[in-house]
Amino acid sequence: AFDRKPFIAGNWKMNMDHVQGITLLQKLAWTLSDAKHDYNRVEVAVFPPFTDLRGVQTLVQGDDLHIAYGGQDLSPFDSGAYTGDISGQFLNKLGCAYVLVGHSERRTIHNESDDVLNAKVKAAFKHGVTPVLCVGEGLEVRQAGTHVDHTLQQLRAGVAGLANEQAAELVVAYEPVWAIGTGEVAGPEDAQEMCAAIRAELESLFGAETAGKPRLLYGGSVKANNAAAILQERDVDGLLVGGASLDPAEFANIVRFES
Ligand code: PEP
Repeated sequence: AFDRKPFIAGNWKMNMDHVQGITLLQKLAWTLSDAKHDYNRVEVAVFPPFTDLRGVQTLVQGDDLHIAYGGQDLSPFDSGAYTGDISGQFLNKLGCAYVLVGHSERRTIHNESDDVLNAKVKAAFKHGVTPVLCVGEGLEVRQAGTHVDHTLQQLRAGVAGLANEQAAELVVAYEPVWAIGTGEVAGPEDAQEMCAAIRAELESLFGAETAGKPRLLYGGSVKANNAAAILQERDVDGLLVGGASLDPAEFANIVRFES
């Protein structure tokens, strides 16, 4: 599966206050160093709540940890009268390498449209933060058998207007909504089917050379005991992990692709 550097990311969602977040990150770093995790082989990232990011930055920089971090969302705007929102330039200044865009919980709970998400993807690139664009179908769409069309439509809308070098840097996470937080895991072949379709779509939009570069992740009830099989698939370059990323030992085993 690894023509590209594997990317294992933990989405903490609205869990872990700034004190708990530091403890979790310290335990994760300790577990990974103890296991002689090879930072050159696998990239690890965490997505804590905004209020944790300053503490995460201090810990990562102070202890020289090889763990990237990012926000769970950003505003499509640079600054101004947008109460409650966070700008990509603030994330950049806090050392965020990445930002999630269009997680299914944002799409459903906050009604984020494909147009807004496209603006967020562009805002992330503008401020030097790499977007992790999340796409994926709900249960009804899966049952109707139109999941590939549905997901590719989200992809096309999300990447509209990107330059080739931006598309090459992008990370896309395929997260079937019916598998998020439910214990239902898509089979490795489902993850491969969609990631291959995403890669083919990127090829038709940006050409073969560019389409070979972005990393495609699977997300949805990933645990240490199913990670390795999913990662074996050719077009799956990594994992976006929710619940299991809150357990440092479990997440470290996912990073090591072990059960
Ligand atoms: C997620 O929130 O991106 C996710 C995949 O969650 P979980 O692993 O808990 O299903």
